[in-house]
Amino acid sequence: MNIRIGFGVDYHQLVEGRPFWLGGVNIPHIKGALGHSDADVLLHAICDAMLGAACLGDIGVHFPDTDATYKNIDSKILLEKSYNLIKKNNYQIVNIDSTLCLQAPKIKDYVPAMQAVIAKILSLELNAVSIKATTTEKMGFVGREEGVVAYASILLQKI
Ligand SMILES: [Zn+2]
Repeated sequence: MNIRIGFGVDYHQLVEGRPFWLGGVNIPHIKGALGHSDADVLLHAICDAMLGAACLGDIGVHFPDTDATYKNIDSKILLEKSYNLIKKNNYQIVNIDSTLCLQAPKIKDYVPAMQAVIAKILSLELNAVSIKATTTEKMGFVGREEGVVAYASILLQKI
C-alpha cells in the first residue's frame, strides 16, 4: 500500500508587539508568536507532518533559523516549498488533521479562512484540511498565554 502517515508538532512563545499568524491568517490579538520566521505554528506543524510522512527530515533541516533567508519569512512560502519537496518525491496529500492549542483568542471564526489558505497552497479540497482548536483549561504555559502549540497529522499517497 502506497500510503504514508506523518505527524508534526510545533511550539512558539507568545509575546506582545508581534503580529499573530496562524494557519496563514493574521489574527487580531494583543500578542503574537515569536520566531525567526513569521512563527506560524500551524503551518510549521503541517510542514513537519508532510516532511515526516515522506521521511524527508524536518522544517529545521530544510529551512534553518540560522539562515537569514528565512528571517521573518511568510510561512506560506515554507509550506509551498515543503509541498514541492514531497511532490518531487512523487507524493500527493490525501488529508490533514490538525489541532491548535491556545488559551486566547477564540479562533473558531478564523478557521474557514485558514482552511482556504492551506487548501489553496496544497491543491486540496477544503474538507481535506481539518483544523480543530482547544485550550488547556488554563493549565501550563498555554493556559498562562505564554505560548501556542500546534499538532498536525497528514496522510500521503504515492502518485
Ligand atoms: Zn515554528
